[in-house]
Formats: sequence, C-alpha cells, structure tokens
Amino acid sequence: MSLVFGIDLGTTYSCIAYIDAYGKPEVLKNSDGELTTPSVVMIESGDTVVVGAEAKRSLEIDAERTIQFVKRKMGKDDDKFLIDGREYSAPELSSLILKKLVKDANEDLRQAGVIKEGEEVKDVVITCPAYFGIREREATKLAGEMAGLNVLNIINEPTAAAISYGATGDGKNETVLVYDLGGGTFDITVMNINGNEISVICTGGDDTLGGKNWDEALIDYLVQKYQEKYGEDEDPTEDEDTLAALYGQVEVWKKALTARKTVNIAVNGSAGRHKETLAREQFDDITKNLLNRTKNLLDGVLRTSAEAGYPLEKIDKVLLVGGSSRMPQVAKMIEEDYHVTPMLQDPDEAVAKGAAIFAANEKAFKDFVLSEAQKVGKTVEELTEENLADGGKLEEKFAKLSAGATGAGKLAIRNVLSRSYGVIAIDDDDKEAVFNLLKCNMPLPAKGTKTFGTYVDAQECVDVQICESRSMEDSYLAEGHEPVAEARLTFQANVPKGTPVVIALTLDGSGLLHVSAEEMYGHSKLEAEFRLTDQMSEEEKRKAMTRLKGVSVE
Ligand code: ADP
Ligand code: MG
Repeated sequence: MSLVFGIDLGTTYSCIAYIDAYGKPEVLKNSDGELTTPSVVMIESGDTVVVGAEAKRSLEIDAERTIQFVKRKMGKDDDKFLIDGREYSAPELSSLILKKLVKDANEDLRQAGVIKEGEEVKDVVITCPAYFGIREREATKLAGEMAGLNVLNIINEPTAAAISYGATGDGKNETVLVYDLGGGTFDITVMNINGNEISVICTGGDDTLGGKNWDEALIDYLVQKYQEKYGEDEDPTEDEDTLAALYGQVEVWKKALTARKTVNIAVNGSAGRHKETLAREQFDDITKNLLNRTKNLLDGVLRTSAEAGYPLEKIDKVLLVGGSSRMPQVAKMIEEDYHVTPMLQDPDEAVAKGAAIFAANEKAFKDFVLSEAQKVGKTVEELTEENLADGGKLEEKFAKLSAGATGAGKLAIRNVLSRSYGVIAIDDDDKEAVFNLLKCNMPLPAKGTKTFGTYVDAQECVDVQICESRSMEDSYLAEGHEPVAEARLTFQANVPKGTPVVIALTLDGSGLLHVSAEEMYGHSKLEAEFRLTDQMSEEEKRKAMTRLKGVSVE
C-alpha cells in the first residue's frame, strides 16, 4: 500500500484527498458524508474532542469550549487557548483537526474497499498559505507529527491549487495567478510554471479578509434594516444567542445567493421579526467595499509581478481558489476590470487535490531513490550521481519511469521569501531603525548585504540584531520590533568612527539564517548561524503525543 494523503488544513474548512487507482485525485468524505470539514474543535472533556460540523454548531451553544481560527495562531508566540483550566497550543489543536480528517478519510477508503481492515494511510503532504513564514510552517509540520502522521512535505496552497488545475507537465510554460479567497484569509500568488518546475514570483494578500467578512456585512445590513423598522435602540445582535445563530444563518444565505438570484432572509429580536427577500445585486452592493479590498491587493501584487517581468499581459491563467471565490461577484470583477476570464474548478477542493498529486509524486520519488540506493548497497544519503547503478541523473531516470501521479518527472518548487529580514542600526535622524537586507518575494535561497559605519571612535563591538517583518520598505523604525536573532562582532583592533562594517544575511529554504559581519580595516569577522524556529525538542514532542494519544476525536 503506497497511498498518501494531501491535506488542505484551512482556517475555516479543511479537506483531504488521495490519488485513486486511475491516478485521479479524489476528495474523501468525512463521517457526515461531506467533502470539507469545518476547522472547529470542541473540547467535550479532557479525553473527548469533537471536530467538524458538530463542533461548528456548538459555537452557538458551548462557545467557551469551542475553538475556531486556530490557524491564525500557528507559529505565534502567543499560540495558546485555555479551556477548562487546560492550555492547548495551536499545533496541538491543529493536530486534532488532522486526526479527525485522517481518521474519517481512512474510514471512507475502508468502506470503498481501497484499504483493508486494520490498514491506515499515514503519509501526508499538508498545505499552508504562501505567506507563512518558517515558524508557521514548522508549527504545521509539528501538528502533523503530533497527529501521528508522517509529514512528507509542507507545500504552499496556491502551488497545490495550480498543480490540481493541471498547470504542470511536459511542454507547459505558463504564468499563473491564483486568487484564493477563503473563510478568513485572502491570498494572491503569481507563479511561473515550466514543465514540472513551479517558481513563485510574488505573493500578497490580507490574512484578516475572507468569507467571514461577507457574513458580517450581511449581519450589519440586517441590523440596520431591523433598526429602521423598530427603532435605533433595537439591536437584535446584542443578544449573544441571536448573534451566534445569525452567524450560522447568514453563511447559508450567502451560499444560497451563489446558486440563486434571491434568498429570503429574516432576523428575530425582542421587538419582533424582520423578514425580506434579498437579491444577489443587493448583496453585491452591501459587500462592494470588501470586494474592492481584494481588487486593491490584486493591483498591488500585479505591480510587483510586473516589476519582476510578469505584467498582467504575460499572465496566462487566473485560477480562483477558496470557497468564497464561488461568489459570482468575484469572477465578474476579474472579467470586467482585468479583461480575463478566470478559471473556477472545485475551488474548495483544489488545494487538497493538488496536495494529493504532489504527495503521490513525492512518495514515488522517495521510493524510487530508496530502491536505487538499495541496488548499489548504499543508504539514501550516500547515494550520489557517481554511484548510481547505471549512471545518469536521479530526476531524469525517475522521469523516464513515468512514476508519480503527474505522469512524468519530479515536481520541483521554488519559493520566495515570505518575510523581510533586516538589522537594527542608527538612521540619519539618529533613531534606531531596521534596515531590510532581505525583502519579501526574493527567491530562495536569498542573500543580502549592506555596509554600515561604526557609530563612535574606538567602538568595541557591533551588535547585529535581526528583525523579521512583512515590510517592503528599505528601512523602518525599530521601536516595538523584537529581534529574532542577535550576534556580536567584537573588534580586534581600535577602529575610528565610521569604519565600514559589511553585514550579510543569507536564508535558505529550511529556515537556517546565516549572518556574517566584517569590519573592513582591522579584518575582524563574525560568522553565525541561527535556526529561526524554536523547534520542540523530541522529548517535548513525545510528551505532547502521549497526551494526545488517549484523546478520542469524533
Ligand atoms: P479556508 O479559509 O479555510 O481555506 P475555504 O476555502 O473552504 O476556507 O472557504 C470557506 C469560505 O467559503 C467560507 O466563508 C464559506 O462561507 C465560503 N463559501 C463556501 N461555499 C460558498 C458558496 N457556494 N458561496 C459563497 N461562499 C461560499
Ligand atoms: Mg483555503
């Protein structure tokens, strides 16, 4: 059994897929028979946890035991949720969502006779937003490990979507823009795809803009209508239960307006009931400023993309991803304002399906490398091009085998920096500022250097303090920004004020930040390396896993 899962671990909804016997990606059903599962966790008791639709419903009844939007806390310093006096970390809660997805998916496969009783698929590829930094990716991987899964890789959601839209393969050379409007986030990514090589050009978006804002706009509209009818003092949402129930209802009405031209909506309050028929045009009008926010962000990304040599005219395809991109207003805006017809295919399944294709490809390649190593009696690490059984390149041999779900060849992904990195120095106004050496959207591995002058005569040392941000500016004020890494260059000789010190930062894809600083006269030198993640120790991981082992996820 060499089955693997692709998992879209979403902010509001998650989805899991595999590659069927015909090589086609298939989304697996959860125990409710649904293809997507709300990313909501309800801690019923210390050892029983409910994930999915039932937990989402309990937001209305048992809000204090129910947790949503866990993904927003992934990789953050303050990533804890308190329930019944117990702390749950974001990776821990995400691991419970993953457990539920994998449990139900295995059950679906068992019922379909794809796997036998007692068998379980554990190899997975999990997706994350392109804007996730190293810490957030590490937290996602940790969530997978805590769920007892074998995480083959973490890949970007838009990359997975592009794979699922069939953008990769022999003879393809396309530039693709992915517009992903989900439940709580909005992401845009421009990628160039050349055969099996996917290179991210730039990304942008807003991680506080998503379908939920459209729901809230509808609630605000209803409150306004209610007050017009019953008076300024009547706000039905002041009642917590009414508001919680309304959140569920507006989402249903919003979805109905995707399929139909009108929907009947109503809100109950202490003064009475307000009922009306809402037309899609009215809904579009109510939410116009939200759609405009996506347009402004899109314009920004298109400007960056044009600077990198990929203006709108060079973009071959616009792919719509995320449940909210089903709203007809999205495609309409793109057609009218950009004169391109976007593609919309399974927007809420595309990411999981693409991840499944990537996972199958990754697994097939890993298995192939292992078998090649075994042929020459070496370990995978020892295998080099020189000692391959009959020469040649691994990737080329693999491509000839036509292994993996993509048909031929290994899928390769080149990412860009999703954060900017700078060092603190004194600016012209005598203020502490962060000077960015590495900026968002630089291709990985990235290197940046800048020369600074020493501040006073006979300065003893330079403290290199590195800050992480999403700022695209050359510099910004340091106040309120905590360094993520620090190193000290101590001068060997007495150097005068203004002595040039060259500082270089290099970041590879695995989260290793290399810092060097060199003083040009006395040749004092500093070389340091930092891991930008505070990875959990094996011991801590084991502890968390044992704690989670006894928990039954329903
Ligand atoms: P995530 O943000 O977790 O990646 P999804 O991509 O699954 O989430 O998108 C979920 C959002 O899509 C929710 O806000 C949901 O209300 C919205 N949505 C799903 N289906 C539709 C539809 N048919 N019409 C409008 N919105 C939809
Ligand atoms: Mg999503």
